[in-house]
Amino acid sequence: MDIQTTTRTELIDITDRVRAIVKEGGIKDGICVISTRHTTSGIIINENERGLRNDILGMLESLVPENKSYVHNSIDDNADAHLRAVLLGNSAVLPIEDGHLVLGTWQSVFFVELDGPRNRSVTIKIIGS
Ligand code: ZN
Repeated sequence: MDIQTTTRTELIDITDRVRAIVKEGGIKDGICVISTRHTTSGIIINENERGLRNDILGMLESLVPENKSYVHNSIDDNADAHLRAVLLGNSAVLPIEDGHLVLGTWQSVFFVELDGPRNRSVTIKIIGS
């Protein structure tokens, strides 16, 4: 799945695209792995509410401030993005039951851009029967 991000940091809801891929896969019972290939992005599952999306980005800024003297910044000036990616993790696993992704009412799957804008790639792997 290709994702074009538009700002340096943002949460992009990819739930509908993941659901469509699961549907196409025709698996009734199994698991779905959603994985980002990049070292400055993450995959998380949480509520898609505008204020909360901003709060999550605010939390990352509080925990890992953008403007701090990191060693990696002498290489390509994006250490904060790598460190934030470490906190979020690069993948999520969700169950598939009756052919559908198992998500709670308020759960959405997000690709989290931490050093955009860029062209990104997310891999979806479905295992089951
Ligand atoms: Zn870097």
